[in-house]
Amino acid sequence: MSEIRNTVIMGSGCSGLTAAIYAARANLKPLVLQGHEPGGQLSLTTLVENFPGFPEGIQGPELIENMKKQAQRFGAEVRTGHVQKADLSKRPFTLVLGQESIQTRTLIVASGASARWLGLPSEQALIGHGVSSCATCDGFFFSGKEIAVIGGGDSAMEEALFLTRFATKVTVIHRRDQFRASKIMLDRARANPKVHFLTDTVVSDVYDLSRKEVTGLRLRNVKSGAEWDFPTSAMFLGIGHVPNASMFQGQLETDADGYLKTSNFVLTRVPGVFASGDVQDRRYRQAITAAGTGCMAAMEAEKFLEEEGH
Ligand code: NAP
Repeated sequence: MSEIRNTVIMGSGCSGLTAAIYAARANLKPLVLQGHEPGGQLSLTTLVENFPGFPEGIQGPELIENMKKQAQRFGAEVRTGHVQKADLSKRPFTLVLGQESIQTRTLIVASGASARWLGLPSEQALIGHGVSSCATCDGFFFSGKEIAVIGGGDSAMEEALFLTRFATKVTVIHRRDQFRASKIMLDRARANPKVHFLTDTVVSDVYDLSRKEVTGLRLRNVKSGAEWDFPTSAMFLGIGHVPNASMFQGQLETDADGYLKTSNFVLTRVPGVFASGDVQDRRYRQAITAAGTGCMAAMEAEKFLEEEGH
């Protein structure tokens, strides 16, 4: 078995990297494990206009890259690794990554949340063939085409606006007639002549499996029950996220939707295990709040190690 680490940080989004900056500066030589979505949500977004300190905004991937460099400058080690299992029943904790195990005295879970899908079999089969959850990654492929965006929150508005760069028309399809999106984002989307809205509408099927590409959607109005075919070349999902905490099932407490429960902001029920960012925050879910709780988690980890005599 390899050395016992002081602090392992699961996740390389802005919460994990902020925790890494603080833990590295406290000389804990943290190991940051970068999972399937390195850089987290910010690395999939475009211009971030509400992170303090950037009056003109900053591109999400650039902000993340800066945070990573800042953490590495103070001695954080960043490497790829997906935690499949963990044993938090005794200290040091054990994390299982494929063939390898890592032991650590403290663990900061900053594993974020991944895009939610509708769950339709046709949707799942067409991911990468016209179905996507990442406008910045895949929007370009639909230049000159019509695109549907599903959702009524800020993500859906942001995706819709971004996709107007490529698409001839973007239709936002939302299951209610009230929007969760902030007023400024909704107003921007409404003001864009390329963005159209279909409310009280859900997707019941995605065509066309036999052609291995999206040619249209089967839609249903939830109030009238009316159903119709809606031609489109792509469907982008902007319907929220699911927390990445399933590997701790039975060991850490979660709420009904799988978000890790914390007390005093970042403490889990296991001493020495802290949670920060979107994996434990269903209320604010902002880059700045994720960074804030990442900072808190690192400070708690430092205090914990000190009290344990390390
Ligand atoms: P969200 O606010 O939770 O919105 C998710 C949307 O998807 C809701 O409109 C929801 O409908 C809909 N939805 C959920 N499950 C669905 C399903 N199975 N079928 C159809 N529709 C479904 O999530 P988000 O937009 O990803 O935003 C998350 C957080 O990040 C928010 O705090 C947001 O402010 C923030 N954010 C900010 C920015 C920005 O400021 N630029 C950009 C992106 C995200 P209902 O409304 O009916 O529940």
